Amino acid sequence: MAKILVVEDNPTNLRLTLMLLRTQGHEALGASDAESGLELAGREVPDLILMDVQLPGMSGLEATARLKQNPALCLIPVIALTGLASADDQRQVREAGCVDYLGKPFRSQDMVAKISLVLRTGALEDCFHRSAANPTFYRSLLLGFAERLQGLDEEFGTALARLDRKRIQFLAHSLQGEAGNLGASEVARQATALGEVARNDTDDHLSLAVSNLLLAISATREELVRHLSLANDETHLAGMEWSAQQLTETRRAFANLAGFLEANAAESLYSFHELRSASPTLAGSGQLEELERLVLKFEFDQALQELRSLEARLPLQV
Ligand code: MN
Repeated sequence: MAKILVVEDNPTNLRLTLMLLRTQGHEALGASDAESGLELAGREVPDLILMDVQLPGMSGLEATARLKQNPALCLIPVIALTGLASADDQRQVREAGCVDYLGKPFRSQDMVAKISLVLRTGALEDCFHRSAANPTFYRSLLLGFAERLQGLDEEFGTALARLDRKRIQFLAHSLQGEAGNLGASEVARQATALGEVARNDTDDHLSLAVSNLLLAISATREELVRHLSLANDETHLAGMEWSAQQLTETRRAFANLAGFLEANAAESLYSFHELRSASPTLAGSGQLEELERLVLKFEFDQALQELRSLEARLPLQV
């Protein structure tokens, strides 16, 4: 769970919000004015800040603007807490650098939903929650999704290089739907944002929006792979259908790594990561984890044996 700072001058609101966050499993810190909030943010570097707008002394929006000018803190997302939410207020909240706002009084479920949207680490919680109902079926969907995410870097990159807005819109739209259905909320959110930018905005903003989406994709993919490997069973490795491209890449990665291990070369470390990223299916293997352990310890002879044994179990033959 996340470390969340709440800056709120009303003591009752502050206590309530902190309590709510803690019941959600978060580590919650409180400050009752902007100055001490900034100081606490600098010391604790929270994952997220909930910032009241109306504060004594410095306003929440000014405090947010200062955070955004601090290179060490500027990446912390800030959600504004505001009683006023006219279109003009919303614009000011965004201009100060807040990612979103919660209108006060807010319902606890709205707060929880917004927080999980904003926190990248929570990007797949909903997804995993849904998978509880039918784990096997969901698992196969998620494997397919993880594989699809892998190819998207290149597709978006190519479309961006050509400034092909139609193509970017199309890719973003289809990803938005798929990610949304699976509960991969961060990818869905960034894909929606990119779709809008591709429709309306400047080319500068387009590349920023693409890179935001690619960041969300890689974080989500890592989380998926981690999740799927926890639930790994021995049988799925052999039973999995691999795409032709994956087969080629995986075979090549096996050969590269074997070469480095035989030569006792430190490049084995890098090569191992190549092998792992060649296929999310492979990343689900416990044997691959054992291999990683050996490579990290520079036990190259044993690692080579492990690699051969893993290779023999996989459907890699032509
Ligand atoms: Mn206030």
